[in-house]
Amino acid sequence: MTARGWDGLGDAILPEIRRIVLSDRAHAIAAKVEAFVRDVVVPFEADPRCGSHGPSDELVQEMRALAKTAGVLTPHIFDDGSHLTQVETAIVLQKSGLSPLGPLAVNTMAPDEGNMYLLGKVGTAEQKARFLAPLVAGEARSAFFMTEPAVEGGAGSDPSMMQTTAKLDGNHWVINGRKAFITGAEGAKVGIVMAKAEEGACLFLVDLPDPAIKIERVLETIDSSMPGGHAIVAIENLRVPADQMLGHPGDGFKLAQIRLSPARLSHCMRWHGSATRAHEIATAYACKREAFGKKLVDHEGVGFMLADNLIDLKQAELMIDWCAGVLDTGSLGTAESSMAKVAVSEALYRVADRCVQVMGGTGVTSDTIVAQVFQEIRAFRIYDGPTEVHKWSLAKKIKRDFANA
Ligand SMILES: Cc1cc2nc3c(=O)[nH]c(=O)nc-3n(C[C@H](O)[C@H](O)[C@H](O)COP(=O)(O)OP(=O)(O)OC[C@H]3O[C@@H](n4cnc5c(N)ncnc54)[C@H](O)[C@@H]3O)c2cc1C
Repeated sequence: MTARGWDGLGDAILPEIRRIVLSDRAHAIAAKVEAFVRDVVVPFEADPRCGSHGPSDELVQEMRALAKTAGVLTPHIFDDGSHLTQVETAIVLQKSGLSPLGPLAVNTMAPDEGNMYLLGKVGTAEQKARFLAPLVAGEARSAFFMTEPAVEGGAGSDPSMMQTTAKLDGNHWVINGRKAFITGAEGAKVGIVMAKAEEGACLFLVDLPDPAIKIERVLETIDSSMPGGHAIVAIENLRVPADQMLGHPGDGFKLAQIRLSPARLSHCMRWHGSATRAHEIATAYACKREAFGKKLVDHEGVGFMLADNLIDLKQAELMIDWCAGVLDTGSLGTAESSMAKVAVSEALYRVADRCVQVMGGTGVTSDTIVAQVFQEIRAFRIYDGPTEVHKWSLAKKIKRDFANA
């Protein structure tokens, strides 16, 4: 743990819970990841290879080589393929998120982290050797192809609106359709494509690039941390051998559920780290900068914003740890991860917004990462389920539970 003032306060309040629940190995890995991100990764934030469609792959590979040397590459997955528990993963991924570049550097980033988790859980031995191993080694990136263009009435918040089709032709599936917002499609080596067969939704593993998967354009979005950006993609007569299907025909939504809760929780973990760093930067600004004869922090309006940050960060951390504990019981944690995703993404957005405000004009510049964190977390309130969709599904559960009581 750091000796920083606010983090120290957190340690004083919550020393035992995390220490009891967390193994020594999780603390040790988290400490190594934190030191690596703060000392080695943070200086790369000013690197000109960080573009609007994410850092270049050259930069990612350069950072990963350093992470490998430091022993922090893919820190949550071990050589035998086993994974830290979700509660352990929480602290490690939080530390990796202390810079928006950290998850890329240590290979805990989205969408690869969720894709690795899914492949580790449901892939066959052959599928793991071919598609998972290069991801765990940090040598390849992956993309998850589910969402479709809204203008064409495709799947978005409602995946059952899926229009991409899969038809069996001999020993191959033939896939046709268009996908939207596919993070990292540009530059990815591994794809997981969702398409609808007669039996229902299916997930297919594909090698990328493939001439049958055309990147039409990479969208201009407000976030900029994910390599390859977010692409609109046309899939035309993509032929996939039958043994590259994950699970069985019609398993697509069921398997996606396995990925969904841990993947959305891992976003909460990483962005908690970034919001924490933004809060540190805003705190330093408010404690040094003066206006009207005193430090900004001594103006109640500013001090209260920082106090509210502290409260939001701690509540968000507790939600993450609680949901991680639920997932560690083997539960799919569908309702719990909806609750955590809403609470954490909304809380972190408030934190990032306050950090911008505390820092005045400097807060909206690229001189610090605060403006980027604000923009990244704005997008997080939409992907992996918009806030309203999670609340809507929770309301359905409330009605169902009431009817069954
Ligand atoms: C940065 C970013 C990265 C992404 N990466 C990927 C990726 O790698 N792979 C992938 O497949 N997808 C990806 N997505 C897509 C993302 O999952 C979708 O944007 C999301 O599911 C919402 O779908 P939509 O954009 O079509 O919004 P729509 O379905 O059009 O919904 C628009 C809005 O309507 C409201 N709404 C919808 N349904 C309800 C409801 N039942 N009750 C109340 N309100 C409702 C919500 O406010 C919602 O924000 C990404 C998106 C973003 C922004």
